[in-house]
Amino acid sequence: MKEINHIITELRQKIDFADAELFDLLIKRFDLSDELISQKLQAGIDTFDPEREYEIVSILKQDFGHKLNDGFIAKFSKLLLTEAKKRKDVNSHSILKDKMIIAGPCVVESEEQIGRIASFLSKIGIKYLRGGAFKPRTSPNTFMGLGDEGIDLLHKAAVQNGMLTVSEFLDHTKLEQNYDKIDIVQIGSRNMSSSGLLKQVGKITAMDNKPVILKRGFSSTLTEFLFAADYLRNEGNENVILCLRGIRTFEQIDSNMRNTPDLGAIIELKETTGLKIIFDPSHSTGNSRFVADTARAAIALGADGLLVETHFDPQNALIDGKQTITLEQMNDLLASLDLCI
Ligand code: PEP
Ligand code: MN
Repeated sequence: MKEINHIITELRQKIDFADAELFDLLIKRFDLSDELISQKLQAGIDTFDPEREYEIVSILKQDFGHKLNDGFIAKFSKLLLTEAKKRKDVNSHSILKDKMIIAGPCVVESEEQIGRIASFLSKIGIKYLRGGAFKPRTSPNTFMGLGDEGIDLLHKAAVQNGMLTVSEFLDHTKLEQNYDKIDIVQIGSRNMSSSGLLKQVGKITAMDNKPVILKRGFSSTLTEFLFAADYLRNEGNENVILCLRGIRTFEQIDSNMRNTPDLGAIIELKETTGLKIIFDPSHSTGNSRFVADTARAAIALGADGLLVETHFDPQNALIDGKQTITLEQMNDLLASLDLCI
């Protein structure tokens, strides 16, 4: 017994030593790829080079394929590559090429807040900045957003960081007043069945086919959801994006989730409509712990994009902090999605 314990301790020490060497080498490798990316950026050369990626994997398979399995080599190389790009924070995420990823705080709180969030998100390649200015709060006695000032701040932060704005409107007059500062109009869950608002928003946005994100009413059926989209489309705007954001079911009696994520609907809507389908993991779950997993599930099921509440300090966010992920978590989520596609 004494002898086997000794053998185990000795082997463990050797493993620790090998790990330390491995990590030293990894750091060396990351430094080299950092340098390579910097040189390429300075020279204006695209940092994404699929041929080179293929070459790296082939060389490794040739040299180590007899000792390590090919799947491991391919996966490990991809991980190295994703991590190297992430470290550089320059349009690093390949998921962003195919999917519409919208991120930002539930509500615009101040110039400093939205500016800081926009700056980080744009650096990691996110194009769409969300931020509520007119908030449809369940209780009228809570913070309702900064209104027109919120739209101004969102627009300013987006322009400064080369992003596009996404914000919800509760009435058409405010939309008309702020029209040029908004790139994508959002209709919230609570207004999905406000046919008057839908018609007006459809009519206003039909002039330039501005995209409208229509969020599913939390108690509505898919048929009702699609009819609501028709209200917008019948006014002449075909550019409607359907957003699943969780529905209220009996699960809320004892579930930790604020809503039941309606993931299955992604498959069905993809089959029945030609419209873009995006998923909001924040309102669907109401809990930041579940955001990344449900977001990955949505993309795996074929969603065309995500709408994710993000803030540098969720704990002190003025609205929906519990379901909001940090900026670093957003970056990690994108990196993990890169590995899924
Ligand atoms: C939101 O996206 O800010 C929002 C209020 O969502 P929902 O309308 O889905 O509740
Ligand atoms: Mn919110």
